[in-house]
Amino acid sequence: MFEKQIRIPPAEEIRAEQPVPAALAKIKEERDVLAKDVITGRSDKLLVIVGPCSAHEPAPVLEYVRRLGKLNERVKDKLVLVPRIYTAKPRTRGVGYKGMFSQPDPEHKEDTLKGIHTIRSLLLHAIEESGLSAADEMLYPENYAYVEDILTYVAIGARSSENQMHRLVSSGIELPVGIKNPMSGSIPVLINSIYAAQSAQVFKYHNWQVQTGGNPYAHAVLRGRVDNYGNDIPNYHYETVMQVADSYANTEGGLKNPAVIIDANHSNSGKRFKQQIRIVEEVLQNRQYDRDFKRIVKGFMLESFLVEGCQKHDIVFGQSITDPCLGWEDTERLICDIAEKA
Ligand code: PEP
Ligand code: MN
Repeated sequence: MFEKQIRIPPAEEIRAEQPVPAALAKIKEERDVLAKDVITGRSDKLLVIVGPCSAHEPAPVLEYVRRLGKLNERVKDKLVLVPRIYTAKPRTRGVGYKGMFSQPDPEHKEDTLKGIHTIRSLLLHAIEESGLSAADEMLYPENYAYVEDILTYVAIGARSSENQMHRLVSSGIELPVGIKNPMSGSIPVLINSIYAAQSAQVFKYHNWQVQTGGNPYAHAVLRGRVDNYGNDIPNYHYETVMQVADSYANTEGGLKNPAVIIDANHSNSGKRFKQQIRIVEEVLQNRQYDRDFKRIVKGFMLESFLVEGCQKHDIVFGQSITDPCLGWEDTERLICDIAEKA
């Protein structure tokens, strides 16, 4: 049974109804170039995708990106900061809060149409307030069309990286697309996903047969893995990263722009959010120690919000209602440290 609840207009209509003002489109274009240049190696800055696990309410997210925008002024010679404004959440057991896209108010029922308007408005305000365009996870590939004119970075989650539609749609995105290793940690699966996303593809998308050009900016994000017994096993260490570098180099048919972003939370930290600091420090040290490691590790993904930790219900302003995050002071210190050691 699929009971029809709310008719959702096609993405073109919604984009036209809530267009990107020219001044913000210009900022996005400039930020896109900065982010792409890190992935291609044209720039040796580090890409840092940083922000809460989920954006459940506009006000604290806007306060967070305002702070990030100010911090950007101090580190922009060394880093490209991209705020995480994640509006669709995969859930390990498939139930619970699924993000602002479906639930613009986490304490109320699903309202996808309101959700789409809310996230467009939030993403646009965020650029206006911070001068930074955002990253989101493309959890539902068909929904990418609702935000395709606003984002600068797109992530494919660990539960999606083996999925055909995610790979095909990634091949048409002209932005850095970070593909997470699957939950199992399989590097061949990850490399195959990057290969598919970098290849030109023909498929059905939004009532059209479309042809894509292949996305040379698709790259790896290492988030740790979960073993057969549910234990988190990190994959940010030197040996694992160098195996990914070898897999990139030995891929039949070749891959463009070998790049790894280290996701310091999730199964790398075992969601012990404070460990993100230690993990980043270790990776920075390895970058200084080994040139090949330095060449392939092009940045970090950090989970961070105004207030550290997480909460079940939205009571504390600026605290995550999904994965636990670093607080603002730790984040500021860590980002300055990354800039110093980049
Ligand atoms: C996330 O980035 O918040 C997330 C859900 O990541 P993953 O897909 O790696 O679990
Ligand atoms: Mn998370």
